[in-house]
Order: sequence, then structure tokens, then C-alpha cells
Amino acid sequence: MTASSHPKSTAHDLPSQVKQNTGESVFNCYQCGKCTAGCPLAAEMDYSPNQIVRMLQLGIPELEEEALKTFTIWLCLTCETCSARCPQEVDLAAIMEYLRQESLRRGLVHPKAKDILAFHQAFLDSIRKNGRLHEVGLVAAYKMKTLHLLQDVLVAPKLLFRGKLKLFPHSIAGKKAVQKIFKRTIQEEEKEDHS
Ligand code: SF4
Ligand code: SF4
Repeated sequence: MTASSHPKSTAHDLPSQVKQNTGESVFNCYQCGKCTAGCPLAAEMDYSPNQIVRMLQLGIPELEEEALKTFTIWLCLTCETCSARCPQEVDLAAIMEYLRQESLRRGLVHPKAKDILAFHQAFLDSIRKNGRLHEVGLVAAYKMKTLHLLQDVLVAPKLLFRGKLKLFPHSIAGKKAVQKIFKRTIQEEEKEDHS
């Protein structure tokens, strides 16, 4: 998931919103299942990637909402294997990304995805503050958001000792430019929300 949301859609049904915001049509999919066969996380998902597309194709509002509530869309790594394998050139990774944004916007995030979302937010906060990722800051923020205070706690001293982690963030030359990008993105989003 990127720092910015996709532009807010004016379309009413989810397939139209997907089309408007990603350029992808779910109706190009003929359910061959090649995306699911190649997906490294399909076995862990509550619905397979091609089932998510099917839920959007049927034009049933309850199924569209169900797609936005799935754990699948949050487990997706955006590895793009599905997009590369699709014989119909459906960019399913882009569709998953849009569904995450829409799920967040409508308050339908799967309860099990809260840690994934917390990690994502801590990651973006770290980039926004430092202009680049500061791993120790990211882990500290993630632990505070999730209260998984002791998770992997024994790994940190080893990484610090080997110099793999830096206690304090490094400043980078483009830090102000990165912060401007975040500011502009938030302003754009607020403008769209009020339009
Ligand atoms: S690979 Fe493409 S056409 Fe086949 S099921 Fe997946 S999205 Fe649909
Ligand atoms: S982009 Fe997501 S859905 Fe597609 S193969 Fe990778 S993890 Fe699976």
C-alpha cells in the first residue's frame, strides 16, 4: 500500500470504482485460476485471489462488501506474481491495493489485519519523519501500536551488536522533499474527501 490513497471515485459499484481508480476491469477475468496457483500466500487466505475477483464480477453489493472485509486483501504482498501470470493481463496486484484503500476508507478492515495495518502506518511514519526508513524507530512504533512488546525481543541485541541496526536515524539530503510529498498527498486526499 502506498502513502497516497487512490483518487476518490464517484462511481457507485465497486467494479466501476476499481476501473476508474486502477484502469483494471474485473470483467476481463475468465476465472482460469492461474493467479491463485502462483500466489505465495493463497494457502493462508480466507478467499483465493480469483475468488476476490469473482466476488466483484457478480454485481451483488453484499459480496462486494464481503471482498472488502476479507483477510486476503491484507495478506497480499503486492508481489505481482498474479499480474505477471494472468493470461488476460488483469493487474490483480493493483486491484488488491485499491481494495485495501477502499476497505480502510469504509472502515471494513478485517480484525486480523490490524497488526498489518499498524506495521504499514509505522513504516510510513518512519519515512515521513526521517526521509528514509529507521528500523529501530519502526519496530518501536509498531510495538507501541500493537502492544506486542516482547515479540522477537531477543533478536534486537544480536542485530545491534552486529551493527545491522542503528539506534538513531540518519538524516538524508532529501528529507524535506519527502516531507513535502507526504504533506501534498494528505492535502490532496482531504480535498477529494470534501469534493
Ligand atoms: S489469472 Fe487472470 S484471468 Fe485467470 S483467474 Fe486470475 S485474474 Fe482471472
Ligand atoms: S500480488 Fe498478492 S494476490 Fe498477487 S500473487 Fe502476490 S501476494 Fe498473491
